[in-house]
Amino acid sequence: MNRGRLKTVAKKREIERKLAAHRKSLHGQLVNQTLILGKHIKTEKVSVKAWQKNYGKSIGFKSPASFQSELVRKAESAGGIVLMFSTRKTALSQTCLCGNKQRKSLSQRVHHCSVCGLNMQRDILSA
Ligand SMILES: [Zn+2]
Repeated sequence: MNRGRLKTVAKKREIERKLAAHRKSLHGQLVNQTLILGKHIKTEKVSVKAWQKNYGKSIGFKSPASFQSELVRKAESAGGIVLMFSTRKTALSQTCLCGNKQRKSLSQRVHHCSVCGLNMQRDILSA
């Protein structure tokens, strides 16, 4: 390896280190903001592995698994708990506020309930 290449490699490593540190501090802030809202947290148990398979590097950088574990660690040290429930059983994106379950394709962005008549953007409804 010549000097120029060595320099580039070192620079790349430095950039990656900075990105990782930055991401870690963003996760920390987000975890803190979440815990202000409450220390008992119920969340969907999402499959980080499946995301990684589908979205690859763009997910890898955001590293949702490390966000999850940070959230659990801080919630527990504050005396709270994090409950993760299965996405299969709850199917938040398929369930109306009235309890009616209605299958939707991912491309269908608006929830329209045939039972109670509710109309809402699907992600807002699930949240
Ligand atoms: Zn409904």
